[in-house]
Amino acid sequence: MSESSPVIFWFRRDLRVTDHPALAAAAERGPVVPVFIFDDTLTAPAGDNRMAFLIDSLADLDANSLGGALVVRSGGPAEVLAAVADETGATAVYATDDHGPYGRRRDDRVGEALADRGMEVHYLDSNYAIAPDTVKTGSGTSYKVFTPFFRAWSDVGWAEPGGKVDVDWVTGVDSDGLPDAPEVEAELPPVGEQAAWDRFRWFLDDAIADYDEARDRPAIDGTSRLSPYLKWGVVHPRQLLAELDGRRAGHQTYRKELAWREFYADVLFARPETAHHAFNEKMTAMEVDTDAGAKERFETWCRGETGYPIVDAGMRQLLAEGWMHNRVRMIVASFLVKDLHVDWTWGARHFMRHLVDGDLASNQHGWQWVAGTGTDASPYFRIFNPTGQAQKFDPSGDYVRRYVPELAGLDAKRIHEPWDAGLDRPADYPAPMVDHGAERAESLERYDRLKTTWE
Ligand code: FAD
Repeated sequence: MSESSPVIFWFRRDLRVTDHPALAAAAERGPVVPVFIFDDTLTAPAGDNRMAFLIDSLADLDANSLGGALVVRSGGPAEVLAAVADETGATAVYATDDHGPYGRRRDDRVGEALADRGMEVHYLDSNYAIAPDTVKTGSGTSYKVFTPFFRAWSDVGWAEPGGKVDVDWVTGVDSDGLPDAPEVEAELPPVGEQAAWDRFRWFLDDAIADYDEARDRPAIDGTSRLSPYLKWGVVHPRQLLAELDGRRAGHQTYRKELAWREFYADVLFARPETAHHAFNEKMTAMEVDTDAGAKERFETWCRGETGYPIVDAGMRQLLAEGWMHNRVRMIVASFLVKDLHVDWTWGARHFMRHLVDGDLASNQHGWQWVAGTGTDASPYFRIFNPTGQAQKFDPSGDYVRRYVPELAGLDAKRIHEPWDAGLDRPADYPAPMVDHGAERAESLERYDRLKTTWE
């Protein structure tokens, strides 16, 4: 191949042009044809919020960083890449390595199919500071528990971020163009590298010092809200980690949160079946309700009409913004599994349909953590009390007031227990759909019954 033959860069979850080792490797080889492929297996379950954010992010990348060169196609990746190679004379494809269960299978297939045609395929780097399957225990296995993983992950360390990659883009290649972004009801965050960095700079200047405390207060804008950008690789965690000051408390906690994302990706890499099945196999036989009543209760939860204010506020935030505060994700997930006895996979699917940051590893394992079926930090018998959680983490009631306007007139004392508000109880807000104390007891009984099958 002559020095100046073009190479294809296949963008996937790495929609940026700074600190981009795979793109840099492609650019070193010659002019680059940037390609994005809409592949049904990934886009079908994505949900409108995530699709809208993706399409707008691609438009921003193309306009601001690729000089309009992006080649957009739909179909099977191997066929699309082969066609683009035929049209442009490219003989090599570069991409950032994908460690998700589907991505791995797809990339193996693409690698083989293109190798059969005499093409080179290079998968480099990852969407993580440390690629999944790298951090290992002394005996060479993957970690199953976060704290020792975090220690080992910190010891392994990561590369310093690189700068903006200088690329000679090939323009004028046929492109289907980006599809129209779906019209969505949710108010989504602004797209693009600039928007992500503006938000991160704001977070570093104004919020990270209080992050330790504020990150658990859903009424406060106290977290980075970078999850959608991390999901699509608009920023790389390496870039964020490089900006942290390891001596300061908020910074240390933020680093730990980024490590949770890495931990769950590592766990899913080691056990890909845990995207849909209990990580702790002993929990597989837990009794869950699946009848028509359970389906109705699930729908009530989805709409945010459970009668538990903090649960309803969270579920309505998800519909309004395609995002939910982490503390409230835990509360609503616990409510679905432990108070309504619905399988965690139902809730995880609903989240994946609406979350703009929906990420298989973080979502499924976030759900499993709460459901007590996952990595073992949260055993099944730890059950969140939705009212106690609300009083502790939303003491003013401002979070509930924002998303549940029916309750806006209640003061901080009564807003989390509107059933006790006497004559002030809003008529248009539902009574609690279940009694938390009774359902907690029911959950524990089911757990006890399950345990007898282990002996
Ligand atoms: P920050 O507090 O600013 O944290 C910075 C980054 O660290 C986040 O953007 C995220 O990448 C990572 N992070 C923080 N907490 C976690 C965590 N517990 N697990 C994994 N990574 C974490 N996160 C997703 O990115 N996608 C999901 O689909 C997802 N689903 C979840 C489902 C449930 C049931 C639960 C309990 C958590 C889920 N999370 C998910 C984790 C967490 O809620 C979000 O990452 C966080 O709320 C995003 O907001 P932020 O960017 O402001 O977070």
